[in-house]
Amino acid sequence: MRNAVILLLMAIAAPLGFGAQSFLDPSQNTWTIGNGWISAVFQLSPDGYFLTQQISDLQSGDQWTTSPNRPTSPVRLQAGTDVFDAQRPFLLLDQYIQTVNPSGVRQYIVLQDLYSAAQITVILEVYDNQPVLRYSLLYRNLTASPVYVSWINMLPWTFDDAGQGYTAFRVNQWSVDPNAEDFEPLETTLDPSGAPVEVDSGADGQQCGWLALRDENMRGVFAGWEFDGRVKTTVRQLSSSGYVQFSSTVLDLNHPVPLSGEFQTPYAFLGLFHGDWDEAGYRTQRFSEAVLAKPAPDAKTFPYVAWDSWAYGEQVEEQTLMDNADVAASLGVELFIVDLGWARAIGDWYEDLTKFPHGLAALSYHVHSLGMKFGLHFALTEADPASPVLQANPDWTSTESDGYFGAVSLCLSNQPTRDWLIQEGIRIIDQYNVDWILQDGQNMVKQCTKTTHTHDPNDSNYSNAVDGLNAVVSAIQAARPNVYWENCEDGGSMMTFNMVKSYVTSITNDASGSLASRRAVYGATYPFSPRYADRYMPDSDGLDSYATGSYMFGGNWALMNSLADLTPDQVAFLGQQIGVYKSQRADVAAGKVYHILPPADNGTDVIQSYDPATDNAIAVVTRADSDGASYVFYPLGLVPVQRYAVSFANDPSIYLQTGAQLMQGGVPVQLPTPYSSEVVHIQHQ
Ligand SMILES: [Zn+2]
Repeated sequence: MRNAVILLLMAIAAPLGFGAQSFLDPSQNTWTIGNGWISAVFQLSPDGYFLTQQISDLQSGDQWTTSPNRPTSPVRLQAGTDVFDAQRPFLLLDQYIQTVNPSGVRQYIVLQDLYSAAQITVILEVYDNQPVLRYSLLYRNLTASPVYVSWINMLPWTFDDAGQGYTAFRVNQWSVDPNAEDFEPLETTLDPSGAPVEVDSGADGQQCGWLALRDENMRGVFAGWEFDGRVKTTVRQLSSSGYVQFSSTVLDLNHPVPLSGEFQTPYAFLGLFHGDWDEAGYRTQRFSEAVLAKPAPDAKTFPYVAWDSWAYGEQVEEQTLMDNADVAASLGVELFIVDLGWARAIGDWYEDLTKFPHGLAALSYHVHSLGMKFGLHFALTEADPASPVLQANPDWTSTESDGYFGAVSLCLSNQPTRDWLIQEGIRIIDQYNVDWILQDGQNMVKQCTKTTHTHDPNDSNYSNAVDGLNAVVSAIQAARPNVYWENCEDGGSMMTFNMVKSYVTSITNDASGSLASRRAVYGATYPFSPRYADRYMPDSDGLDSYATGSYMFGGNWALMNSLADLTPDQVAFLGQQIGVYKSQRADVAAGKVYHILPPADNGTDVIQSYDPATDNAIAVVTRADSDGASYVFYPLGLVPVQRYAVSFANDPSIYLQTGAQLMQGGVPVQLPTPYSSEVVHIQHQ
């Protein structure tokens, strides 16, 4: 009777929303973990199988139930010849709850394998106001010998297909070779006969580490996995058996686990949405920003306006950079980055004294005295064959080299290499007073099968990601926590939900020009919040409102112009445009992104942000080589009865209208000439 009262109270409270919580019903061995948005139910069945039962969207009423034809378990792992999954019986050894920051609950369910080969701990997390379940498995080797974990499934979800058709949505990464890719969104109808849609993610992969799926009634799920190495993820529908099935595997996993040792799988998350891909993206971004992502240095002044020295290529030198720093500071640039070329060689991370006769610290001092932060390029996974480190340790290279500016690649999961690199990173930061690391290189997770290294030769992908790159970066960050890092590898080709934990921004494409830059932002801002779409504006873009307008929406705006060569008019124009960027960056960074019209050579493109906290919207409308001198922009997401003031960056017109009027009647945007842009501000009144 008391339970009935509690259940009744819960039922009443649910629509109002409640905080993250987890309950065990001991009579059924059933766990219900959730909040006012999501509820996920798991059971240890009477015959010992640990099974997913149902995941519910408490706001929309959508249900994702498991298929009677295909029992499914969050436990999906192979160690040696033992497969732990929905067919493997367990005993409940223990279960307990922790509270986790920010405002979350973590449920541990400790299962003892009936055949005594392993102990598996299922870890489930839910956070207040996030319609997302985050999870991981902890495997403990109970056999009498070391074993290799050779397979895991980070998306162990199979759901009843409810007789519906499904559409999958993915986004490419940046790539030049072998295929040119620039964050294209890919929407694919699932073949009901089971052909999978694939996501090839991680360093040097083809797609961002994220996937969304919805049915014909807009009932949707999205998923991300927190791993920087290569992962193959699939979703498929087998309508004859009545289910949709996800899978996500770390490629070439072969991780040794000693006697009584443990292995924890990378975390992954499954979220619920009801609506379009913008809604899937926004819910992913809210979760990432609240739970996963490295906090921005300052929400009010981030993303930064930056300057990068690549206009001069590797021919950087002291006086030129001093002169550029003076102009940059006068323009309002906040971060001054010295790109590739400052060191004696890649891997020989001391300043080239022929280029910097007073030392790089003198330039850093000058930059700081002008009120800017000092950023430095660091290609940590590469070294020149002639560099002292490789002369002394020729075996520190990985078996595959990526040919980054004549360097060869290092194996970061080899412990002596890793230890050296951590010390070098800390020394560079201290010696040159560095505030910002521009991490660069080519393919940040190396392939290495050397038997002479400290990692297992057959575990390259996992170990070079987790024990290599991640271990090096986290050790340097732990030692120097006030230095912020930017993710780059000749462009955004490690766009993962592990990356966001260590870096405050990521490059999208390299300095590819106006149209390509807008394309990249358009695609990248589905899975990732706008601050993870940072862009480099090359000198070749010229300096007009079309060029600068192409960088108004997104993460850091990095100028690559030779500032010391600009005319006074150009300096004035750029300074004014930087002011515009700064006035709107906080709204863009916090808002929901609406992808209204994608960039095209002969078109007009529109991207909008709406910030529910301020009730302000902002849109950048850009005309490429089209003949449309005006464009009617229909904003999305406004409050219908609310009054808004509409103003523009160029057009002096001002409107005062309700949200309903604006969304139905549209806003005329004047784009009188090809290659022009306009910014529309819609302000809560
Ligand atoms: Zn190695």
